[in-house]
Amino acid sequence: MTAFTLDAYCDLIADLTGKGYRIADFHDADPKRQDLILRHDLDFSIRTALPMARIEADHGWKATYFVLARSPMYGIHTPDSSEALSQILGLGHEVGLHFDASNYANDRDALETAAGREAALLEDAIGKPVRTVSFHRPAESLLGYDAPLAGRVHAYQPRYFREMGYCSDSRGAWHHGTPQDHPAVAARTALQLLTHPIWWTSETPGDPVATLDAFRTGRDRQLAQAIADNCEPYRNRVDSAE
Ligand SMILES: [Zn+2]
Repeated sequence: MTAFTLDAYCDLIADLTGKGYRIADFHDADPKRQDLILRHDLDFSIRTALPMARIEADHGWKATYFVLARSPMYGIHTPDSSEALSQILGLGHEVGLHFDASNYANDRDALETAAGREAALLEDAIGKPVRTVSFHRPAESLLGYDAPLAGRVHAYQPRYFREMGYCSDSRGAWHHGTPQDHPAVAARTALQLLTHPIWWTSETPGDPVATLDAFRTGRDRQLAQAIADNCEPYRNRVDSAE
């Protein structure tokens, strides 16, 4: 299997556009056409998505980047996230809400309220409307959930999940077959392609554990720097260790 690298990603999308696919989004894709939705869920980091966002923009491809509004992995209001989000938007991509519904799966009112609240948080962070939602690690009961969510379309509505093909690189591999092998591609109908940029921008492609360990090491270094910047005894300790 081809390793997950940015070059391989470009080859994959170019192969699909070469077969007649048009890059679409959640608002204009038609399940019956050769429309290709490029979806990215940012589970660990916003910044690691930037190389992918840039390379897509270089090719004229527009994608939707889904961001967690409440996550232990990153904040959406930190200076680093704000800058990364404005770069993604500046490259012409859409930013949507990546929503962890695990606490609300059996309570539709609570689900609506929480999704609306998180969308408002993200709208405040990016300064523009959030029009699209994707569930983070959705419960079985939410796959094919047909109503919009807090007035917004979401990626597991039947239109995007059953009426069109759906292919994902979850856990760092094509566990359910490659996009090219998907029946929708043979049938020349629409495809929602979910990729997680962290797997495609790694120094150790194909090794999810090493990729996440490297991510952790980088985050620890950032945290140490931030602590040193804000606390003199820690800064002196770091300086004397060098
Ligand atoms: Zn996710």
